[in-house]
Amino acid sequence: MTQQNMNIPAAETIEVEGYEKVLTMRDPATGYRGIIAIHSTKLGPAIGGTRFWNYQSDDDALADVLRLARGMTYKNAAAGLPFGGGKAVIIGNARQLDRAAWFRAHGRFVESFQGRFITGEDVGTSPADMEIAAQETRFVAGFAGRGGDPSPWTARGVLRGIQASARQRWGSDDLRGRTVAIQGCGNVGFALSLLLKEAGARMIVTDVDAARAAACARDCEAVAVAPEEIYDAAVDIFAPCALGGILNEQTIPRLQTAIIAGAANNQLHDEAAAQAIEARGILYAPDFILNAGGIISGGAYLLGESSARLEQRIAGIYDTLLAVYDLAAQEKTTTAAAAEAYAEQILRADQ
Ligand code: NAD
Repeated sequence: MTQQNMNIPAAETIEVEGYEKVLTMRDPATGYRGIIAIHSTKLGPAIGGTRFWNYQSDDDALADVLRLARGMTYKNAAAGLPFGGGKAVIIGNARQLDRAAWFRAHGRFVESFQGRFITGEDVGTSPADMEIAAQETRFVAGFAGRGGDPSPWTARGVLRGIQASARQRWGSDDLRGRTVAIQGCGNVGFALSLLLKEAGARMIVTDVDAARAAACARDCEAVAVAPEEIYDAAVDIFAPCALGGILNEQTIPRLQTAIIAGAANNQLHDEAAAQAIEARGILYAPDFILNAGGIISGGAYLLGESSARLEQRIAGIYDTLLAVYDLAAQEKTTTAAAAEAYAEQILRADQ
């Protein structure tokens, strides 16, 4: 019997300093290619989403999965979860493949870790994809029956983070009458806009998908603007909820906001961006503290926790962020550096 018929994955280990395990997998039967990186299992099994992206090269895919896996160690530690950090990427053009077969292959790859890595949706994947992967592995969550869609929880956590940032900045977390710019009206941005409307805020929204921006503007009584205009909007809070890397030397000088607090991962283009934001007197809410609601909901499901405990953990993002702001003041660092230091304290304390 050939390898193909037996569906034996062609897995290969890549040694990377500072990482517990990095494996690539190729499934000859489907053409599937993926990488799973486990950065740390110090606090517990590694959890992290599966990203599907048409990477320019395998080196780009490897760099991305390594950066994201390490980020998950920090995010999970800071969120107080008993889980380590890992991440998966699937490499390919999503339009040119048998999606169900690829996600079953991915499920087999995840299963080969025997629970040391547990995954869910991320950029380019959906709860429906995870449901397909679950035909092959127990170690996947984030869809109906296994924790549900994480996005509404992420939005709720971001709201708590925005409230904590308002308190830090203005001494009150009341958002009535405050104006918030929302970049990206997707799963999180749309849900966040609805929550902000309930909290009495006014919104200026944008999306590269004009129909989404229009729908969000209609439902949230917001003003929709073109994607490039969002950086110049005069607001109290700017909430990036689309792509990473958008806080850079071109955009930071344009911002007219007191606070940056949103859901997008890796908002800072580089370390210099954190310094530039601080130099402008803008309070930056570190993204991985703020957007932990999704992983907290997945983690709560894996731990078998009650919905009351889950609510408590999400609400806790408020206090975690205030603790990070305190640490930044004590250590005289940027809030971004303080967030990393906060997570490192937790990782060290567990030794
Ligand atoms: P999504 O794909 O549902 O929404 C993203 C939206 O941003 C889309 O509507 C897209 O059209 C829009 N967009 C893309 N580029 C844009 C641009 N240049 N200007 C304006 N709009 C643009 O994704 P999501 O699940 O809502 O996640 C949003 C962000 O939050 C991502 O960075 C994601 O990594 C991060 N995040 C999401 C979760 C979650 O639970 N979904 C958890 C943690 C972090």
